[in-house]
Order: sequence, then structure tokens, then C-alpha cells
Amino acid sequence: MTGPDATIARVSLPRPVRQSFHYRIPDELRESAVAGVRVSVPFGRRRETGLIEALVAPSAAPGLKLRALHRVLDSEPVLDADLLELCRWVADYYVAPAGLVFRAALPPGLLGGGADDPGELRRQVVKITRDLPTLTEREQVFGRARRQREAYETLEAIGGRAEVSHMEKQLGFGRSILAGLVERGLAEISLETVERDPFAEQETDVLPIELNRRQQRVLAELADLARQPEPGVAVLRGVTGSGKTVVYIRLMRSVVDSGRGAILLVPEISLTPQTVSRVRAEFGDEVAVLHSGLSDGERKDAWTALRTGRKRVVVGTRSAIFAPVRDPGVIIVDEEHDGSYKQGETPRYHARSVAVVRAGLSGALCVLGSATPSLESWARARTGQWTALQLPERATPHPLPEVEVVDLREEEGPPPRILSKRLRDALADRIERGEQSLLLLNRRGHSTWVSCESCGWIAVCRSCNVSLTWHRKRGRLVCHHCAHEEPSRETCPECGAGTLAYTGVGTEQVERHLGEVFPAARIARMDVDTTGRKWSHRDILDSVRRGEVDVLLGTQMISKGLDLPGVTLVGVIDADVGLNLPDFRASERSFQLLSQVAGRAGRGRRPGKVLVQTARPSHFAIQCALVHDYEGFAERELADREEPGYPPHLRLANLVISGRDEDAVESAALALGDWLEGLVAARRELAATRLLGPAPCPIDRLRGRWRWHLLIKQPDAAALGAILRFTASHAAIPSGVRLEIDRDPESLL
Ligand SMILES: [Zn+2]
Ligand SMILES: [Zn+2]
Repeated sequence: MTGPDATIARVSLPRPVRQSFHYRIPDELRESAVAGVRVSVPFGRRRETGLIEALVAPSAAPGLKLRALHRVLDSEPVLDADLLELCRWVADYYVAPAGLVFRAALPPGLLGGGADDPGELRRQVVKITRDLPTLTEREQVFGRARRQREAYETLEAIGGRAEVSHMEKQLGFGRSILAGLVERGLAEISLETVERDPFAEQETDVLPIELNRRQQRVLAELADLARQPEPGVAVLRGVTGSGKTVVYIRLMRSVVDSGRGAILLVPEISLTPQTVSRVRAEFGDEVAVLHSGLSDGERKDAWTALRTGRKRVVVGTRSAIFAPVRDPGVIIVDEEHDGSYKQGETPRYHARSVAVVRAGLSGALCVLGSATPSLESWARARTGQWTALQLPERATPHPLPEVEVVDLREEEGPPPRILSKRLRDALADRIERGEQSLLLLNRRGHSTWVSCESCGWIAVCRSCNVSLTWHRKRGRLVCHHCAHEEPSRETCPECGAGTLAYTGVGTEQVERHLGEVFPAARIARMDVDTTGRKWSHRDILDSVRRGEVDVLLGTQMISKGLDLPGVTLVGVIDADVGLNLPDFRASERSFQLLSQVAGRAGRGRRPGKVLVQTARPSHFAIQCALVHDYEGFAERELADREEPGYPPHLRLANLVISGRDEDAVESAALALGDWLEGLVAARRELAATRLLGPAPCPIDRLRGRWRWHLLIKQPDAAALGAILRFTASHAAIPSGVRLEIDRDPESLL
């Protein structure tokens, strides 16, 4: 709004409150105070940086004595009109404070939160200079300096070096603790030039020039859609190895040639180096790559280049959906089923949903691609609401790999039965022939369960109600949900018996076992514990590609999008790991994981084979994965979700009530449940609402907080939104208790 009446600015501050604040615009700032610019405003006794969400007439804030804006910080808006509207949609739909949405959409530091100086390329780095191989040595050196020892061991665990600012800000070890390490001669701090973004200089893959007939047809259809005034959404289901990336790139090329911009989202940059290098080969300097490894300064540079139109293409993870690409003509979400597109903290947006909305606002085509589309997307494609396209065959010479099941219940010998005879033989065979194998186990550490055989005591995290995992090499018991760890135990803390059992197999144990069975084999492990350093993913994958690794073992990290032509065998150590989780997506996740990892086999000149070890061979998720039957799986799973009433049949929100006092949390949850029941009963338009709970969350204690939850199911998205917004502003939540609203949850744990 402009004109003489528009004298009031509605400003969002990056605070966890849903309201915005009104400020008077002084005459001298009238020209520059427009929607989308950052402003400095008085707030209490302090000054804060906020963003002008809109200009409103004085009648919008009648009777209020308004304070004046101090200063306008930008000469032009940091969010254009479309992005402002997109952020407002996110705030509204996910019931999140607008200020926090704006902050998430902007580069770090622009709206609250400290930013590194963009010009700073030299950083202080801490490095371990002396190893302490034995426990005795550690005891002697550190004595009672517990925090120093923790800092040392953390540094050790993340590869022996780290930026000082990372140790301080993210890991919470203050300057004096680090100085203590230096004084003891264990570490040194030096000024180093920061590692440059490796994607900036990475060699680029050469694209195959010819598309096959299927690819050509799909490309033509997509390009045609992109030229329509309202292109809508296309779901591209292409089997693993069908050459989706090449289609994406050609599509982006045609859109960019027509003068518009393009956005490509990927689940994790470090795991998709090939996609990135192909995009770079095509677009060179026109592409900005946004990933978590960038420094704040690099991120801001990329953001500026997009905003000014110097770059027109972006490849990035979740938050790149807010990248200021000018006039996007196509927005592609690759591996759209991937759970990492959902943000785990406020604002809890799903980048796939935001992509669909942004495409609608900009008149762009939205492409959702996957070998195993989410059931939400599939349901819409099936009913014709969205366009369905398929690439049912591989572009490589070999068909999809043969998948066989190994029934773990028939294996003989004492547990743990890590490798069945068939998998062991198949591995031996590949190692002998000089071919590569991939082994998946979606559980890290050595033993995932430590218990006392005499009294039944179980090692559980002191802050979370989950069992601790034993990490053998580090000699620690670790909680995978919070940062807590403690030394390994020799005896039971309850009864003093020395009869502790270490059970439950994790990747660290498999690695050891492989080393014993195949002493000559070259084994690499890829999981959170081995990829702490900034570019370790890439280093591991490069060595696999160079043929320096016989067996690559890892968690779900190794299932995503990797194209390793030397791999002819994929083994799944335990397909049941995710299948038994108390979550309505457990079957879908397992099917996706099995299909994705199976898709890594036989992408080169030689055909591939997949062996799946399971104790539940008749489960339909496993049966469908065996024959690459996505549609069969989707059919069955959609039917199974109809009666309990889960997405995509219904809209879902998970309300989590948490706090440090167990009784307070329980009574707040029960009160909220009663209140919601009253609300729903009082309004006829909400009659179709179903409430489930309140009940304790499956993980009922996390990071020291007790947790209860409540599910709200509604057939209508707008009605669900209304309930959630009304709840956020009217439900009485006692102090000390927190209510978190997770709309379209990816997990109910
Ligand atoms: Zn005991
Ligand atoms: Zn914990």
C-alpha cells in the first residue's frame, strides 16, 4: 500500500511469538521504508532488527501510541513481493512466527543471529598435536579437567581439527577450555585460510549428449508444461538409473534460455556431488550452489548474485527453496520423498510443499522426481490433480538388478549373525573378481543395546528415554538423540555384576566383522561417525570411485543418489531396522530405503545383484522391493492407511507438549486434549475432526524434557489450519510447558 495513508509499518521480529509489531514511519524514511526491507526498531529498551512485512493504514492500529522506526537498513527489499507472500504462507500454514520464517529464508545473520564477517577468509583453527592412545594416559593428563577432556575427545571424534568458532558456538567449549588444551601441549590454535568450497573447482562430468526415446518424450512434455501460463505440478517417477538428472538439466536449460530462472533442490549436497557437477558443467558461472558447508560469507555472496540476477540457477538443499532466483520458470525437487526436506525445528516447513506454493506464485512448473514418490504426491498424480510422468526403464545397458531375500530365521550358528552364508559367499566372490560391494545397515555404533544379564539393568540416556549405543573405538556409550555420552562400563551400576551384554549390531561392529572375515579386503565405512569433517563424504566416495575400496559399508547415507559404476553387489544387513518403528511411515520408509539402495547395484558395464537379509521376508514392503513394484506397494499401503486414517487420506498435525516436570506435562496435555474436544464439539464445521490422544510420545523423554503428544486429523486442510491457529493463540499453556505444532509431520516419534 502506498499514498498518504500508508504511514504505519507492520514489522516482524525474529522472535518466537506469532504477533507482529506496528511502528510509525518518520517522514524522512517514507521513501525507503517499503515492504521487504530490514529496519532497526525500538523494542523495550533495546534496538532490534526486523523486517517490514507490510505497510498499513493508521486505522489498522487504532488507539495505539506507536513508536517510530529508527533506521531503514536496506536500499532495496531483501525479499521481493513473491518471496514475502511465500513466507507469509509458510507462517500461516505451519502456524509459525513470521519473523522466524523470514530469518530462515534469508542468509544467516541478516535477521538476527551472529554472522561471520563476509570478508573474513582466514579463521582460527584448533588442531590436536598430541595423541593420547591409552585411557591411563588420558587420566594422567587431564586429571580433574573434565571439560578439557571432553573438548579433546570431541575434537578427536570430528577428525582432530575444527574452527575455534565452531568449537565455541556450536559445541559450547569456551576459549579458556581450548586455551587449557594448548597449555598442556595437546593442541594448537593457528590462523588458517578457510578451506575453499570444493564445488567451486570440482571437475565437471560430461553429459551424454543423446537422450533415449523415453527421456526425450518426458522432456518434451515437461518443456511444454513449463510454457503454459499455469503449469502446475508434475510427478516424475523414474526408476533408479533411468537418467532423471539429464532430463532435469535439459529442462532447466530450456527454461533459462527463455529468460527465466531455475531451482533444483536435492536432499543433501555432499551425497549428490554428481548432480552438482553436471549442473555446473551445463550452467558454469550462472549457477549458485547452496550447501551447509559454505561459510556465512560465501552463502551471502551466492544469495546476492541470485538477487541481482547475476546468477539465474540455484542447486541446493531444503532452505534453497527461498533462494532469491529471479522469475523462476521451473522448480525441481529431486528425490522428493526424502525426509530431510522437512525442517525439524520452527518453522517446521516441508520444502516440497513450499516448492509447490512458490511455483504457483511465480507461474513456474514444479517437478517432483523420485523412483519412489511419497504417497502424498503419488495420490495426487494418480487422481489426475497433478501430471504423472514415468521413466520405467534404466538408461544404462543393464536392467534393474535381481533382488533376493535371505531369511535370517533360517541362519545357523550363534548370534550375532551379521553375514549370512549367501551374503558372505557373494562378497567373497566380488572381492576376488575385483568388483565393488555396498553394504547397508541403518544403525551406527558397535552395539546398540547394553544390559545386565543378572538384574536386567539397561544403559539408558540420563536425558532421553532411549538406550545408549556403545562406540567401541571411542570407548564411550553415546545417546544418538542428544549429545550425552559416558565412559563404557565393565560392571553393572545397579547390582555390581560383571555380566553386561552388548547386543544389537551397528555399522562399527559390521566393519570389525568384515575385517576378520576378509582380512585382505579394503573396507570403508560411511556414517555420521566417519563423516564429521567437512568434506569427508566426498573423500570416501572419491576413493570408492577410484577403485581403492572393495566394500563400502554405511547407513542410509549410501542409499541416496550415488552413481558408482563399479558396484555389482548390494547387501542389506538387516532390512527390519526401520520396519518395526511405531510410526505410520515405517513401511513406506523401509520400502523407499530398500528400493533406493538396491538401485545402486549394476549401474556400470556389469549387471548387479542385491541380497536382502530379513527376519520378516513376507512383509509386503520387502516383497514389493524384491520385484521393484512401486505401484503394488503404493496400492497396498494406501489401502492400509485408509482405516486408521493417515495421510494422504487425511490431513495430520502432531501437537507435542513438553517440559521438565513430568506431572506438569501430563496435566497440560490432558487439559489441552479436553479443551480441543470442546472446541471441535462446539463447531459444526469441525465435526469431521478426529483427535487421538493425548498420550506419551513413543520417545517420552528427550533432552531432559518429558513429552506427550496429541494427533489432530482432518479431511480438510483449511479446517485443520483454522484449528491449529486458534489453538496457538487461545489454548492456555502453563508456564514451564511448551507446545509445538508439527503440521504434516514426517515422524511421530
Ligand atoms: Zn545388574
Ligand atoms: Zn540423550
